[in-house]
Amino acid sequence: GGVSRYDSEIDRADRDRGTRVEELRAALDLGRPDPGEQFVIYYQPQVDVRSLAVTGVEALVRWQHPGLGLLAPGEFIDLVEKYGLMPELTARVLGEAAAQAARWQADGVPLRMSVNISTSFLTHPELLPLLDTVLASTALDPALLVLEVTETTLMADAVRGLEAAHAIAARGVGLSIDDYGTGYSSLAYLNDLPATELKLDQSFVSRLVVDDRTAAIVAATIELAHRLGLRSIAEGVEDDATLAVLETLGCDECQGYLHSRPRPIASLEPWLRARRAL
Ligand code: C2E
Ligand code: CA
Ligand code: CA
Ligand code: CA
Repeated sequence: GGVSRYDSEIDRADRDRGTRVEELRAALDLGRPDPGEQFVIYYQPQVDVRSLAVTGVEALVRWQHPGLGLLAPGEFIDLVEKYGLMPELTARVLGEAAAQAARWQADGVPLRMSVNISTSFLTHPELLPLLDTVLASTALDPALLVLEVTETTLMADAVRGLEAAHAIAARGVGLSIDDYGTGYSSLAYLNDLPATELKLDQSFVSRLVVDDRTAAIVAATIELAHRLGLRSIAEGVEDDATLAVLETLGCDECQGYLHSRPRPIASLEPWLRARRAL
C-alpha cells in the first residue's frame, strides 16, 4: 500500500545519502594514494562597473562525480557541512585557488581571488593555520585574497565570528560580507566588523530594474558601504539594464552571467586574454 511504499522511498533516500557521504569522504581523503581530481574549481569573473576591467574572480567548487556528472554545490555542500568534511574541502579549494592567484601575481597580473568560507569553518580551529600555510606556501599578496562569509555565518556565533574576522583582517586578507541584506546582522555589528567588501545579494540585484523599493535599498546599501570604506559588488547581474542602474547608483563592481558564467580554468584563461586581462 501507499504507506509502505512511502517508507521504502524514505529508506532509499537515506541509503542514497549514506552512499553519497561515503563517496564524499573517499573523494576528500588526501591520504589515499590516488584521490583523483573529483573537486573542480570554476571561476566567475568580477568586473569594474565603469571601466568593465576584470578585477578578480570568485572560486566556486563543483564535484565531478564518477557516476552522476558535474554536481553544483547545492547538491553536496550541505552534506560536506553536516558530516564535518568542510576542513578538507576548504583546504583543497583555498589551496588551489590561492595557488592560481599566485601564478597570476607572478606573471604581473594582480587579480583578486575570492573564496567562500562556510558557517562551521569560519570559527573552526583549522581556519587560521590553513590560511597561514596557504599564504606562506604560495607567497600570494594577502590583499589579493578575499574570504567571503555570509551574514548568517557571522551571526551563527556573533562573538567568535567577529574574532575570526579580526584575525583574518590582521593578516591583510580581505573579507567580503556575502549575500548582504538577506541576514540579520545589525548596523552596530557591521560597524565593528573589519570587512573590505559588501556583496549585494542576487535577490536584490535581480529586482533592481523593475522595483523602485528594491532600487532604494540597493542605493542605500551602496552608500552605506562607501561611507564605511567598503567596496560594493553586485552578484547575479544578468543584463545591461541592471548594469546601467548599478552604474548610476555608484556600485563599484559586478559579477554575473552578463559578463561570464563560472568557468573552469582552461576556459577562464582564454576569456581573460580576450579581455586583455591576462
Ligand atoms: P554564492 O557564494 O552566493 O555564489 C553565487 C552563486 O550564484 C553561484 O552558484 C553562481 O554560479 C551563481 N551565479 C553567478 N552569477 C549568476 C547570475 O547572473 N544569475 C544567476 N541566477 N546565478 C548566478 P553556485 O556556483 O551553484 O554556488 C552556490 C553556493 O554554493 C554559493 O553561493 C556558495 O554559498 C556555495 N559555495 C560554492 N563554492 C563553495 C566553496 O568552495 N565552499 C563553500 N563553503 N561554499 C561554496
Ligand atoms: Ca560567495
Ligand atoms: Ca553570494
Ligand atoms: Ca546569493
